[in-house]
Amino acid sequence: MAQLIAIQGDITTLRVDAIVNAANTSLLGGGGVDGAIHRAARPDLLAECRKLGGCATGDAKPTPGFHLPAKWVFHAVGPVWQGGEHGEDELLASCYRRCLELAKQHQVKSIAFPAISTGVYHFPPKRAARIAIDTVRKHVDASGVEVVRFACFNAETLAIYDDFLVEIPRPPIA
Ligand code: ADP
Repeated sequence: MAQLIAIQGDITTLRVDAIVNAANTSLLGGGGVDGAIHRAARPDLLAECRKLGGCATGDAKPTPGFHLPAKWVFHAVGPVWQGGEHGEDELLASCYRRCLELAKQHQVKSIAFPAISTGVYHFPPKRAARIAIDTVRKHVDASGVEVVRFACFNAETLAIYDDFLVEIPRPPIA
């Protein structure tokens, strides 16, 4: 059973096998966590991303981490929130699922996710956290990943994740 933990902090500093980027379809960098990752990984990352030809919403593509402590960056493209009736939930779930598929392909044992789509893409944070945790719980064991960190940039996001993560179904005490 994998360990799922929420922490508060900058995802670019984490010593994990892979960090996930909340990228846009161009994969050529942006603001928020995307900007932070590109700054920390330095221009090598942008050069590598240029070779990928973009990425569809709901999908993810891997690159090395270059100057980051993480070996890999999985660039996932979350949906822009448009009111919730445009497949946003499924597209967000697909990002987390695809990253766990990439983790399996690359033998990643530890991975950190940001709260994809909850910044400039305006996905409601609680709804996004629920989807993130449910999707990871569903697919993590098949991926071979042992540690999942949800990197929360602020205390409000951390509180949301912590609330949902304590709802771990536990076996009854004998
Ligand atoms: P999106 O375009 O998918 O909404 P953003 O980068 O705007 O992506 O925001 C996604 C989440 O990442 C937000 O909750 C934001 O607060 C958070 N964030 C921004 N910078 C960092 C960082 N360095 N580490 C972790 N999370 C971050």
